Amino acid sequence: MANVIQFSDLIPENLSDSWFAVYRLPGEVYALYEPHHFQDVISYLILGKERALLLDTGMGIGNIRAVAERLTKLPITVVNSHSHFDHVGDNWRFEEVRLLNCPEKTALLEKGFRLKPGDPNLRREAFRLPDPLWFEPKDLQVRACKVRPTMEGEIFELGGRRLRVVAAPGHSEDGLMLAEDEKRLLFTGDTVYPGPLYAHRTDSRPELYRDTIRRLAGEFSEYTLYCSHNAPVWEGKALREIEKAFERILKEKRKKSRGSSCGPIEYHFDGFSIIA
Ligand SMILES: [Zn+2]
Repeated sequence: MANVIQFSDLIPENLSDSWFAVYRLPGEVYALYEPHHFQDVISYLILGKERALLLDTGMGIGNIRAVAERLTKLPITVVNSHSHFDHVGDNWRFEEVRLLNCPEKTALLEKGFRLKPGDPNLRREAFRLPDPLWFEPKDLQVRACKVRPTMEGEIFELGGRRLRVVAAPGHSEDGLMLAEDEKRLLFTGDTVYPGPLYAHRTDSRPELYRDTIRRLAGEFSEYTLYCSHNAPVWEGKALREIEKAFERILKEKRKKSRGSSCGPIEYHFDGFSIIA
């Protein structure tokens, strides 16, 4: 089984914030973690010599820009791993954000959106905070922002370090990862993390997800994965395990769905699950 590093294995930075907990990871990277919501979202601040790159802007409950600017004085390039609400909430605080070229999702972010009333992410019990909350969950919204598309192969030059865009569709059409080949780091977004992988959302495509994982397993199994939910660090060999898991469940699903259609099922594996 691939090794995981949990936040409980790490010591947080001494930086008090009502929403974010900050951890320094090997390779001049900060994990900006949101421990007070069950999604356990993680955004990453990656430091170069001339620029910093912020991968994702979180749920939009805390002020991620203020936290990032306490950690670096460098100008910040913002990239979204994809457009789901829990990764784009503070986009509006920045001049522009970069998203994989996908006109429909670009339009969505440029217009802004809200979750549907009653969404489980907005329920009181989704938050791990005592009463009273200092914000109103139902007011949560993704405010409009300016999006500049990026594409597979674009390099973000931070001065002394280069991050390469890897298209990773499947969980969502606009999924991207950032690879730092020199340090063998892969920032995985929502495509890969130790926990339930969502291949069942309306914008998910399980077969495409499997193809993406297969490609990633071929290229990045020797890398260290910095993931966007639950635990920050996972060993790259997890990609091989997820690849095998996808092959198995898609085969099973094909067998089961012959004749009758079935809803999403959670398939459990060692250290992760897949909902498809
Ligand atoms: Zn997502």
